[in-house]
Amino acid sequence: MGLLAVSENLQYRRLIESLENELALSRGKIDKLTQKLEVNEDTGLPNAVVMNREMEGLLKATPDSKAVLFLSLTDQYTTLKRTSPSKPQWILFNTAIRIMTVVAEHGRVYHTREEEFLILLEDLHDPVAVTQLASEIVKQVKEAYVLNGQTISLGVNIGIALYPEQGESKSILLRHADIALSESIKNKSMYQLFTPELRDRMIEKDELQKKILKALEVNNSDERPQLMLYFQPQVEIRNWNTPEVQGRVVGAEVLIRWNHPTDGFIPPGKFIPVAEETGLIVHMGTWILHTAISCLQDLALQGYGTITVSVNISSVQMNMDDFIPRMKEIVRRLKTADHPMKLELTESGMVNIEDTIKKIGDMKEMGFKILLDDFGTGYSSLSYLKDLPIDVVKIDKSFVDGVPAGEKDTAMTRTIITLAKELRKDIIVEGTEHREQIDWLFDHGCTVYQGYYFSKPLPYSDFVQYLKNFPAIFEEKSRPN
Ligand code: C2E
Ligand code: CA
Ligand code: CA
Repeated sequence: MGLLAVSENLQYRRLIESLENELALSRGKIDKLTQKLEVNEDTGLPNAVVMNREMEGLLKATPDSKAVLFLSLTDQYTTLKRTSPSKPQWILFNTAIRIMTVVAEHGRVYHTREEEFLILLEDLHDPVAVTQLASEIVKQVKEAYVLNGQTISLGVNIGIALYPEQGESKSILLRHADIALSESIKNKSMYQLFTPELRDRMIEKDELQKKILKALEVNNSDERPQLMLYFQPQVEIRNWNTPEVQGRVVGAEVLIRWNHPTDGFIPPGKFIPVAEETGLIVHMGTWILHTAISCLQDLALQGYGTITVSVNISSVQMNMDDFIPRMKEIVRRLKTADHPMKLELTESGMVNIEDTIKKIGDMKEMGFKILLDDFGTGYSSLSYLKDLPIDVVKIDKSFVDGVPAGEKDTAMTRTIITLAKELRKDIIVEGTEHREQIDWLFDHGCTVYQGYYFSKPLPYSDFVQYLKNFPAIFEEKSRPN
């Protein structure tokens, strides 16, 4: 071989070598990239990509029954992320270790989303054993962490679905575990086993949600409206059971009604919770407020300018960040700060008392009167009633039902009246159906009544008619029997 040929050969080999090196380098990069794509960076656990790829095969790999657990860290984790941005990674890593320690050789753990893990139990299936393991995971994850002298506690919810009876394919099984997880989150329970009833309720809820959306759409179009506002009169009485008896309508509570084209009347107790859960209550609430304003303006035109209209505000609505700006916009539409509108709030959604007090202050500044609805039905009413800057307390129908015959209800009602008076709050009594109730309540200092005794909730035009006919109606209702 000539010299030239040797040199060419050498060059050729070098070229091959360098190409090989380059190839090895990119292969390393690809491996690293693949690893990155398949592994959660915080915990090193296989992620959703891997889970999705291998789950179906793993389920079918052995004839054994199995179980899938969907695990989600509670809001405490989100709060931690916001307040101490450096800690979540450490927490996630240690949480993963705790979960894996409990799961041990029973199965595999995937880290599917930041605050979500999925566990496939390959050799546990018996519901008792699976739920025992789930509660052990909850116990371990809840154990407080101490980091730089700070104690951190996390909570977790778990949804469980059993294979194969609760889903023969990966997608159905996971969906069912997810439904169970949603239920566990909703009920604030540690874990929830999937049941077919849960799925049926979920489907029913989804359908109702679609129908609500449609109803809201229809109400903004030329089609026959499905949603309507009804008005239930609130009557103030004086000198009850005397010849000088007097009465006047001082206000009305606005209550939504839904007349669905095929399902007929759907009660608010059924659709309001779904609208709340799905957030649709915010749109619905805006529509209610705007419609109530139009009625308020019409009432003024008809000479009933002093009648207060009382609108229910869902706690979901009130807890929205933009609630106060939205209300300001409503007031702008009303064009006057001095408007007879009340807002009915319930204690159930008052999670943060300082925030609630601030919002109530803002609303009062805008000219709204604030009413506390369903008073006494929550468990914390007493402790904060003194702090809330509300104007009116509404005594709930559930107490009024037992007045005056029921000993306990009557005692409760008496206590609520005393308390409200001590704190200088006005009182409205809800759900008065019988004369004896009003007789007793009037003797104990209540003067404003809302209930079937005076009137059921009425469509707007009937309400206006009621106002016109009120002298005759009252004359009949107040006549001693
Ligand atoms: P709520 O705010 O406690 O409303 C009072 C409920 O008691 C109304 O039921 C009313 O029709 C009923 N009621 C009043 N007086 C009597 C009576 O003498 N006897 C009987 N049996 N019932 C009486 P409704 O309209 O079915 O509303 C149920 C719940 O749905 C309301 O309870 C409220 O929480 C919610 N809701 C109704 N309309 C709206 C709305 O426009 N917005 C929001 N956010 N919630 C609403
Ligand atoms: Ca109410
Ligand atoms: Ca009530």
